[in-house]
Amino acid sequence: MPYSFTVGSIRCHILSDDKTPTDGGGFFGLIPRVLWQRMIQPDENNMIPSDTRVLLIESDRGLILVDTGYGDKMDAKVRGRLGLNTTNRIERELAMVGFKPEDVAHVILTHYHGDHAGGATRFDTPDHSPGRLIPTYANAHYYGQGGDLADANNPNERTAATYHRDNWQPLFDAGKITILDQPTHFAHGVRTEFAPGHTAGLQIVWVEDGGESLVFLGDSSNWAAHMNRLAWVPAFDILPMVSIETKRRLRQEILQKDALMVFQHDANVVTGRLVEGKNGAEVKPVIVEEASA
Ligand SMILES: [Zn+2]
Repeated sequence: MPYSFTVGSIRCHILSDDKTPTDGGGFFGLIPRVLWQRMIQPDENNMIPSDTRVLLIESDRGLILVDTGYGDKMDAKVRGRLGLNTTNRIERELAMVGFKPEDVAHVILTHYHGDHAGGATRFDTPDHSPGRLIPTYANAHYYGQGGDLADANNPNERTAATYHRDNWQPLFDAGKITILDQPTHFAHGVRTEFAPGHTAGLQIVWVEDGGESLVFLGDSSNWAAHMNRLAWVPAFDILPMVSIETKRRLRQEILQKDALMVFQHDANVVTGRLVEGKNGAEVKPVIVEEASA
């Protein structure tokens, strides 16, 4: 379900590519299950629902989409494992806030993992059966980080399952992607920032206007619990100690700006703000939804 609001005068929408079952140990790493299951109850296979959110920004340079979800290229087996029984999920959410895929002018990829860049490309068939690969957003130009692209093009045993060339190569073939190597200003009040840890080249997105701020945290802190406790780092992160330092730095900026945080994968807490609690900074949820899919 989309959530719409303004940051200063900039209208933003949080859309979802649906919730999928994910191993709880993936998100909570070294943290004992007896601690994290107080927050979210796993099923008998230790799976918890995780959301796949994207951000849509109505900027003065056109519609900006941040990340693209899983998309519809996966075969039936993978789709079944993820519980993704429908297609065109982001397209439907776009329609609910009054837009079509052709309206998107810019797509910013936080990184190239399958749950963020999978929807960047699609098969050119109406039913998503295998065909020619094309950019999903026909009129958009895409932007990714060079550091993450280097890792994506040279996956290792640990990262090969989430880096799929079909998610970005068609963008290059179509001349539709620009590779960035530094934080970038995209439009009035819209900029990217490096947030390494989950991947070495991860970027996140800030929206700032009229004294208000929003930060789309991507996988730098994809559940509110990760921002509450610096030591809670997903097992997915390739540089866990760097993740901790990134969160320490982000916390200061978020507190100082009273920024609204968007949690990309949290099953319950969609957005929240940081407040000083008795044990240090803690997330005060703003938008909360039911955990079930
Ligand atoms: Zn992710």
